[in-house]
Amino acid sequence: DALNQSLSELRDIEVSFEFFPPNTPTMEQTLWKSVERLAPLKPKYMSVTYGANSGERDRTHSVVKRIQAETGVTTAPHLTCIDASQEELKTIAQDYWDSGVRRIVALRGDLPEGMDKPAMYASDLVNLLKEVADFDISVAAYPEKHPDAPNDQFDLLNLKRKVEAGANEAITQFFFDSSAFLRYRDRCAAAGIGAELVPGILPVTNYQTLVRFAGMTNVHVPGWLHKMYQGLDADDQATRNLLGANIAMDMVKVLAKEGVKHFHFYTLNRSELSFAICHMLGLRR
Ligand code: FAD
Repeated sequence: DALNQSLSELRDIEVSFEFFPPNTPTMEQTLWKSVERLAPLKPKYMSVTYGANSGERDRTHSVVKRIQAETGVTTAPHLTCIDASQEELKTIAQDYWDSGVRRIVALRGDLPEGMDKPAMYASDLVNLLKEVADFDISVAAYPEKHPDAPNDQFDLLNLKRKVEAGANEAITQFFFDSSAFLRYRDRCAAAGIGAELVPGILPVTNYQTLVRFAGMTNVHVPGWLHKMYQGLDADDQATRNLLGANIAMDMVKVLAKEGVKHFHFYTLNRSELSFAICHMLGLRR
């Protein structure tokens, strides 16, 4: 009751939506249907991921341009530095600035097999971007620690470096333990990290994929979540969507009550669950 009461009192909630560049005609249709459905909710921005190779970079840019042109929503391309020279990164950044992009999600990218020490970390990329232009910069944060980091404190200090280099927002890896996010937010505040910490919410539509992905990213999948999906047929998508929405809504309610004002949704290019959660948060077309 208290949760629902505080939900009805919510004001000034902001959201952002993350998409990835589609690589088949069917996925392309799904993406644009989702963009069309979510744009009227007036997100703070829509971000588009970037995979490590130049073909993907072009696709990120063209999706970003089309979202801007067709919806007027602010866009934020993701950019990784693991696979490009400083000169290339500066050219890309200047191109983005010249085409009206003002926010970039700045990342290192995953280490390719066989590489153990990259030439650049995300904090270096933030520095480089700020040299090119005065971008708004979002960076990644890990409430449950990035898999490569030796310990929590090392990883926290890395976030601090990224913010001191000029990032004004940190989007978290997805998580299911809201108290882990809240503890992490406290630790960020205690470490003097001034940027807004934005929870990354993953509305689960595919339990098997989730478990695989969580294993790769050091995200804890709690026992209650495993139990929730036990015994469901793989093709019972409607029920799985209801469960996914329910899990995300419970988390979002707790976080909103704890003062979170901005939620970032990993949409995986689908709109149904994110739309329903935003509706619950009071966002209307
Ligand atoms: P960094 O902040 O550089 O940190 C990486 C690791 O290096 C951490 O363990 C950190 O503690 C450590 N570290 C930092 N500095 C040093 C140092 N000087 N010496 C030693 N260790 C150091 N990937 C993509 O390829 N494309 C995307 O579009 C994309 N989008 C993402 C969006 C979000 C919101 C998130 C959370 C992740 C995203 N990723 C994406 C994944 C991301 O690229 C990986 O998690 C990657 O492994 C780390 O990126 P980072 O920016 O956090 O790196």
